[in-house]
Order: sequence, then structure tokens, then C-alpha cells
Amino acid sequence: MAYFTGFTCVGCGAPYQPSQDLLLCPVCHSLLEANYDLSALRDHLDRDAIAARPKGVWRWRELLPILDVGAIVTLGEGDTPMLRCDRLAHAVGVRELWVKSDASNPTGSLKDRSITVSATKAVEFAYRVLSCDSTGNKASSVAAYAARAGLDSVVFCPDDTPIPKVTQSLFFGAKLIRVRGHYSQINAMYRKLIHSGRVNWYDCGTDNPFRYEGKKTYAYEIAEHFGWQPPDRVVHPANGGMSIAKTWKGFREMQALGWIDRIPKMTLVQAANCDPIVRASLAGAVTVAPIEKGPTIASALAGADPGLLGARALEAVRESGGTAIGVEDSEIIEAMTLLAKEGLFIEPSGAVAIAGLRRLVASGRADADESVVCVVTGSGFKDFDAIASRVTIPDDVVDGYEQLLSAAVAIG
Ligand SMILES: [Zn+2]
Repeated sequence: MAYFTGFTCVGCGAPYQPSQDLLLCPVCHSLLEANYDLSALRDHLDRDAIAARPKGVWRWRELLPILDVGAIVTLGEGDTPMLRCDRLAHAVGVRELWVKSDASNPTGSLKDRSITVSATKAVEFAYRVLSCDSTGNKASSVAAYAARAGLDSVVFCPDDTPIPKVTQSLFFGAKLIRVRGHYSQINAMYRKLIHSGRVNWYDCGTDNPFRYEGKKTYAYEIAEHFGWQPPDRVVHPANGGMSIAKTWKGFREMQALGWIDRIPKMTLVQAANCDPIVRASLAGAVTVAPIEKGPTIASALAGADPGLLGARALEAVRESGGTAIGVEDSEIIEAMTLLAKEGLFIEPSGAVAIAGLRRLVASGRADADESVVCVVTGSGFKDFDAIASRVTIPDDVVDGYEQLLSAAVAIG
């Protein structure tokens, strides 16, 4: 039985059927929000029975917007490690810090959590090609899930996208179109293409309301991990901001189901040189205005114009009592180094969560007595050059056991 009951437009309130193939609202072009029969789920879905299912995003399938479980396209995404990091907590200045590492997803980033849903919808709707615009991680994920489903993929990326990300996409068989300009400019052109009707591809990009529902699984996994007593705060990097918005939605659903009785403070972090949502939050705005983007090491967080998504992120922050904060590149690099001291190899765009929490505590905007989950969203291998420049490979090469011994003894 499917508990997904369709969509409601957040702009005009128009309702849509669960079987409809939709991106934005056909009437007013606002975002669509998926609905579920929560009262039936409250009666029929046992949170503890879900724990016994095979690990991954699809444990929560009754809370995802699909109609055919036979269409599911999976690579084993979700249920990523939740690691208590006491040294990192001390360095950041909080009592209890957990790192949820989405670097452990199949293609090395958070995107798999949502692309598994859009790839499944592409199969349900019988498309042959998946497409997206991307700063790199989404492209890798779309390419991988298209391959898994036996479909083709086309991805549009800025010409300065990190080489490992485009390499991954190409190796999975994607057609790559490199585009001059920064991400928000490319996003605008890509959306114009998709809505032009000139191509019949399944859009896994900005406007897909099915895809975003996959991000709710952060909330389910976090709540379950803590025995249904959620932590004080969840911190997430933000480009468009839908990860934090959907995590908040996941917590609200669980509250409605009677699974949890409180919701963490939703906290989003952006790079200071590309922080439109942070600026809007500090100004008390309910929508996000585009900004002029500056350079940042956090290449995956290059959205200078979050558009409709930004308002959803602001709502999550505001309604949960959370906050939004920007961090400098130097703080991001320090955060990557702190994560490495816990054995975690995380790309700059993922490490911003740690940098943001550290700044929040230092500025008194987060309490040192909090328990916090920071989501780190991508592997260090995804933006390798940004890390390779931080280390020096020794020139010396030992030759034979005597030299090896002296080198070892010199280290002590
Ligand atoms: Zn509408």
C-alpha cells in the first residue's frame, strides 16, 4: 500500500495526484511539496520494525514518493556512519559532537540519497535518459544511478568543476556538457532547456519534487540512532538549502507520527563568499535574493541564487529555532584538518558544517552544552586538488633495508 498521496503547491495550494509526472506547479511554477497519509502511517508503520529491514534509504519507503517498489534503483545508499568525535567536539567547543559522514555513500556524496529516488521515478515514468545540472557531485550520482538502471545520462557542469567529479560522471557513461559561467547561471539555462520541451529527459535537478524527498532520510536515520531522542542541533552545508529543509520535514513527520517529541535546531552553513541564504536569514527575510558570488574553496556550494529553494531553507531555520552562518575558506581548511585528525577524509564543501559549528560556538550563538550532529557531505577524493595542495610528498626514496631502517629510526 502506498501512503504517498500526491503534492500540494507551496505557492498557490493546488493539489496534484501521486501518479502525475511533475516538476514545478503547472499553474504558478512554484515548488511542490509531497504529502503522505500520516494518520494511516501512524496506525500501520512501526518505527522499530523498520530497524529490522535491510540498511539504506529504502527502509523508509512508506515515507518516500514512489508507487512501485519494483522500480527502485539502488546502490546501497543511506545509513551512512554516525561517528561520535570527542576530540573534534573539544576543538569545536561543544559537549557532544557526532559526524554523519555521507562521504560513505556509493558515489562518495550526499547526492545518492536523493538521486536514488529520482532514478526510481524515471523508471516508474518510463524515461530513457536522466539529466541534471550540477557542481559535480549530483552529476556523478545521476550518472551512476542511470548506469545502475540501464539508462543513459546527460549532465551539465561549470567548466571549473573539480576533475574527479567530472571524471566519475564520464566513467559511468554520462554525456558531459561543460558550460562557461558559475553554477547559478548554468542552473538558469538548464532549467530553461528542461521546461522548453525540446528534450525528453528525466530532470534530476533543481525542480524535481520527488528527488528532494530522499533527503528526509537524514532525519529518520539521526532520530533512530539517538533512540528517538533527537540531538539539540543538526548542522548541514547549504547550496540551495533543500537538505536542511527536507531534514526538517523528516523530523516534523516523525513528530506527527508520534515517534519523537522534539525537533533539533536546523542550522545551515555556507561559504562566506557565496552566502545568499545566510544574508537573507540575518536580515529576517522570508525569500532569498541573488548575490554576486566570490571565490571559495567550497566549490559545491556555489549557488549564488537559490531561487525558490532558499525560502524553504529559511523556513526550516526559522521555525526550528536554528540559525544560518557563513565561514571563510581559512576556517573550512582548518575544519578539514580537524576531520582528518578523526580519520575522516572530507571535501571542503562537506567540512563547512564543522567550520560553521565552531564559529557559532565561538560567537556564543550555539551553547557549549549542546549535542550536535554535523553532516559532512562529500569525500575528499571528490575535490582532490583542494586537499593535495595541503600536503607534501617526500622527495626522498629509501633504497634497501639499511636506508629504510635509518629512516624509521629517525622518525622514532
Ligand atoms: Zn502553484
